[in-house]
Amino acid sequence: MSIIQEKDKEYVAGTYKRFPVEIVSGKGSIVVDSKGKEYIDMGSGIAVTSFGVCDDEWVNAVTKQASAVQHMSNLYYTEPCGRLAEMLCKKTGMKKVFFSNSGAEANECAIKIARKYSSDKYGDNRYTIVTLKNSFHGRTLTTLSATGQEHYHELFRPLTPGFVHAEAGNIEELKRIAIENNAAGIMMECVQGEGGVLPIGEKFAKEVADFAKENDIILIIDEVQTGNGRSGSLYSYMNYGIEPDVVSTAKGLAGGLPLGATLMSEKVQNVLSFGDHGSTFGGNPVCCAAGCSVFSRIDDAMLAEVRRKSEYIFNSLSDAEGVEGVSGMGLMIGIKTSKPASEIVAGCMENGVLCLTAKDKVRLLPALNIPFDTLQKAIEIIKEACK
Ligand SMILES: *Cc1c(COP(=O)(O)O)cnc(C)c1O
Repeated sequence: MSIIQEKDKEYVAGTYKRFPVEIVSGKGSIVVDSKGKEYIDMGSGIAVTSFGVCDDEWVNAVTKQASAVQHMSNLYYTEPCGRLAEMLCKKTGMKKVFFSNSGAEANECAIKIARKYSSDKYGDNRYTIVTLKNSFHGRTLTTLSATGQEHYHELFRPLTPGFVHAEAGNIEELKRIAIENNAAGIMMECVQGEGGVLPIGEKFAKEVADFAKENDIILIIDEVQTGNGRSGSLYSYMNYGIEPDVVSTAKGLAGGLPLGATLMSEKVQNVLSFGDHGSTFGGNPVCCAAGCSVFSRIDDAMLAEVRRKSEYIFNSLSDAEGVEGVSGMGLMIGIKTSKPASEIVAGCMENGVLCLTAKDKVRLLPALNIPFDTLQKAIEIIKEACK
């Protein structure tokens, strides 16, 4: 074990199982470890580095803002914050944005909006949020409570009250649970990422959206992983033709700096007012400058590229040896393999490709701009590992 690895093991909390690899540099979709070995990065820091590592435009935007002013708190105006909020609203039709630092915080804000909207209008006893079984919404105690996976809950009771879980795909059950619990909100991912890269399907998404609208229940779409071009549309809900009241996003938004955003539709745009919410780092100018640089590049041509690469991955892997199924949307792909996923990931790493897992699947989240020949090379190595 190297000195760096020893130090990490001794002093960093043991919450992560790291691979014995130290990444020291890179360019785009190629990263380099401390021994000089190159890898094709098919994980993008878990859907974060939207344009890969050390991307020139991104580096320029970040360093320019860092050398102007890196932080001023939300007591003052800084330029990138308003610029990014305008871009987010103009490209989605949403009306207002609250900035935070992570996906969990973006969801916390979304939950607060649903609860406050409901208590302003209906009084104290309408606060429950319905989420889906097998979902993932974050690691804070409240977003953990929202997460519909029992094994995340076990060690941390009591959980935040006011969350119930319904089966994805079963609209009648969801309706019954929402009505029985006097629901204020429904929160869901259009593709369950950590849950195994499972799209919930257009029909179910539409049924939920219609039901939420009819009953004045706030529909929150968690776009933390699916958002910002990854799904082949700007946001995955757009692939399903639904109109959420609140959208939360983070991961890829600032291409590698911590930035969360909660987008509010016309209906809820004024729910949070002065003093109702806040964040010291939220809307930080360096993170927002990074966000502007990422967001301005996710245009129609880029999204068409994402869809083309997605199709290529689906086609190449669907009937490959040792592959039992491929799921996902855009450049968010889950591969069910005959061999254990962890074995495939290890094999790929050996041969210079970094992949992720999600539940029992191999998960791919490459940079949106991964060059086609690099992608082809990675897919060949993945196919070989699946055999
Ligand atoms: C990663 C993720 C989160 C949590 O984001 P953090 O930035 O780790 O807090 C929430 N929801 C979904 C769908 C995610 O994939």
